[in-house]
Amino acid sequence: MAGKFELLSLIGTGTFGEAWVAKSRPNGVKCVIKVVKILKLSDKELDQSLTEVSILARMNHPNIVKYLDAYVENGALNIAMEYADGGDLHRKISNQKGIYFGKQIIVDWFVQICLALRYIHSQNILHRDLKTQNIFLTSDGKIKLGDFGIARVLKDSRDHAMTAIGTPFYLSPEICQKKPYNHKSDMWALGCVLYEMCCLHVPFDAEDFQGLILKILQEKYNPIPKNLGTTLSYLVTKLLDKNPDRRPSAEDILSMSVLKSFVQRHE
Ligand code: ADP
Ligand code: MG
Repeated sequence: MAGKFELLSLIGTGTFGEAWVAKSRPNGVKCVIKVVKILKLSDKELDQSLTEVSILARMNHPNIVKYLDAYVENGALNIAMEYADGGDLHRKISNQKGIYFGKQIIVDWFVQICLALRYIHSQNILHRDLKTQNIFLTSDGKIKLGDFGIARVLKDSRDHAMTAIGTPFYLSPEICQKKPYNHKSDMWALGCVLYEMCCLHVPFDAEDFQGLILKILQEKYNPIPKNLGTTLSYLVTKLLDKNPDRRPSAEDILSMSVLKSFVQRHE
C-alpha cells in the first residue's frame, strides 16, 4: 500500500509517534495518518497500537472518526483515518477566551458525543480516554470521536478493564479508588467534557495529583452558568454523580424527551 498517501503537514506529536494531514493519492481526499515507530515500542505498546487499529477498523458511525487504511512502511505502522477539519474541542474551548458557548450548540455537540458513546458501548467497547483533546469537529459542525489508543474490548458483560490510565482530570471516583473501569467511567468523563463545554474549564483541578484525586472523590464542583438553563445543569449533576450505579448510560440520556429533536437531527 506504500505511496497511497502523500503527507502534507505535521499536526501533532502523539504518545507513540506523529500525526500528519495527508492526501489520498487516488482521490485527493484529505485524511490523517498516525505514524507509529514500531521498532521503538515495547511489546505492550505495540499491542496497544494494534488494538487501536483493530477497534477503529470495526467502528462504523457518523460521529466516530472513520478508519481508512493501515500499513507498515519504513519500520512504522501507519494508520490512515478520516480528517476532521475543524480541529479538536479543547482548542475550540480555549479559543473562546472566556466567552461562553450558547445552550443550543452545547446540547448539539453533547448529543453527538452521546450517540458515539452509545454506539461504542453497544459493541462492548470502552473508550477510556474521553476528553476534549480526543473529540474532533468538522467545519460543518459534526462531532467525530477519535483516539482509540487505549480503548478496550470487553469479552462479556462481567469483564472489566483494570488498568487506570487516561488523563487525570477525567478520572472517575471509582478509578481513583482503583476499582475496575466500566462504561459508567466513560460517562463520568462525558460529564467532565459537558462541564467544560459549559464552563470552559474542567470541573476538578488541583496543584498536584493527590489533591486532584481528593477533590474528585470528595468535592462538589462549582455550578455551571445559570443562563445555560436547567437541562444542562441536570445532565451535569447526573453524569458527575460519584456513584457509578446512579450515573445514566448513553442510552438513558438519549431517551430523554428534551433531547429528542437534537437526537433526530443526527440519527
Ligand atoms: P494521541 O493523543 O495519542 O497523541 P491522537 O489520535 O489523539 O493521538 O492525536 C494526535 C494529534 O493529531 C492531535 O494533535 C490531534 O488533534 C490530531 N488528530 C488526531 N486525529 C485527528 C483527526 N481525525 N482529525 C483531525 N486531527 C486529528
Ligand atoms: Mg489524543
